[in-house]
Amino acid sequence: MGSQSAAVIGVDFGQTAIKGALVKQNGAITAERHTASNLHAEPGRLVETLSDFIRRLIEEASRNHLSLQGIGISSTMDVDSAAGCFRVINREYLANFEGFPIAQTLKEIFGLPVLIQNDGIAAAWGEYRFGAAQPYQNVISITLGTGIGGGVILDGSLLPETLGSASYFGHMSIDRQGDWCACGNRGCWELYVSGTALENRLKKALDETRHPTCLKPDSSAKEIALKAQNQDALALQILQEAGELLGLGLVNLANIFNPEVIVVGGGVAAAGDLILNPARSVFSKQRMPIRKQIPIRLSGLGQYSGVVGAGALCFEQMGDSPNRRN
Ligand SMILES: [Zn+2]
Repeated sequence: MGSQSAAVIGVDFGQTAIKGALVKQNGAITAERHTASNLHAEPGRLVETLSDFIRRLIEEASRNHLSLQGIGISSTMDVDSAAGCFRVINREYLANFEGFPIAQTLKEIFGLPVLIQNDGIAAAWGEYRFGAAQPYQNVISITLGTGIGGGVILDGSLLPETLGSASYFGHMSIDRQGDWCACGNRGCWELYVSGTALENRLKKALDETRHPTCLKPDSSAKEIALKAQNQDALALQILQEAGELLGLGLVNLANIFNPEVIVVGGGVAAAGDLILNPARSVFSKQRMPIRKQIPIRLSGLGQYSGVVGAGALCFEQMGDSPNRRN
């Protein structure tokens, strides 16, 4: 079997959507698919949804004459990657998932090796191997979605996992008098900078005063980003504020990890420079100048960073390719 025909299935399941594709060893993807995720309290239902989704990708692989090597899953839920199990932290409605052996369950259904990883970490690995973090070896990756996902790569390796999880950047507090967060802390970064935060900020702004804006109170973060690109004043103001607070959190992370590059992805990143430029401005002014330049880049893989990253990690777990980018 030539390596050109080898592929893995990459699946990224989030709180609202499941995305997937066939991922080749060079990071190229094909047969991209999407569906609603309907994260349900019962693991059995998730297994059914994922199995159906994976089955369709297996059919695509066979149509494309690709030899499937495994399944890599990027998970919005906490995971113990080494054990292949879900973990439940601060989400009591998902209590039935605690310790659920998702990797083994899917392995028994499909007869393929299965890797599962936290979505922030999978996205970081995707960007490191094939995306905007190239050619650097010291990388911080941030995903601005429902919350904030994160991943750190130091000297070409993921941070060692402790208890299966780490990189909860979204719960780094930037305001000790800020709103309380479900995690138990207050003023958490993701309360100000995630997609959910932008949507809440919009509602609040529309409640407070009348703004000349085309935005409706229930507009999504993506719509806010699009309207900002069309020069909507309120949308621009929301992104400016969020961008400055994005920059403030990145100052903290850069001072701790001293990365060579920072990659920002997720739905909110669709606003591009409208959110990244205010972040860059705060970042360059307020960080310790340990390094001269630390570029803040937009994700290179877009919505597929988790899919590609989980796929790459799956290949690497099987020892089919180096676990460091050369
Ligand atoms: Zn929190």
